Amino acid sequence: MGGSERYSGGCHCGGVRYVFSTPFPPEQWSVRRCTCSYCTRFGAAYTSGPDSRLEVTVQDPSLATDYEFGTKTAKFFRCNRCGVMIFARSRIEGSDYAVLNVNTLDDGGLPLSTGDTDFDAETLEDRLARRQTNWIPDVTIRFANT
Ligand SMILES: [Zn+2]
Repeated sequence: MGGSERYSGGCHCGGVRYVFSTPFPPEQWSVRRCTCSYCTRFGAAYTSGPDSRLEVTVQDPSLATDYEFGTKTAKFFRCNRCGVMIFARSRIEGSDYAVLNVNTLDDGGLPLSTGDTDFDAETLEDRLARRQTNWIPDVTIRFANT
């Protein structure tokens, strides 16, 4: 496997920026529109991948909001200033795993194909095991002004 490609993105106001690194070309990304009651409200579509990495830079700690609901095993990271939800992360056995909202990528023209998923029937154990296998295993969040 060669080196990873880097894709940048962020929220609308620029307060939160990230670099997503993955060895896979966009054509091969698995992109899933989540059909849960939260994500449906703003049409989020997520990608992830076992060999990928997400590095997030937040301008100021006051901009970071985590939203939890349902089983409370995932936190949805939202910018407090512009309201854009960028990624969700789940802490499993001491490590963070993430899925990225592809609608927040700077390059809106990537050749992505999107499918729907509905995980409501999943057990909690199955859900955490799936995240450990499929989600981005390397997540760092940095605060620029601290
Ligand atoms: Zn923002």
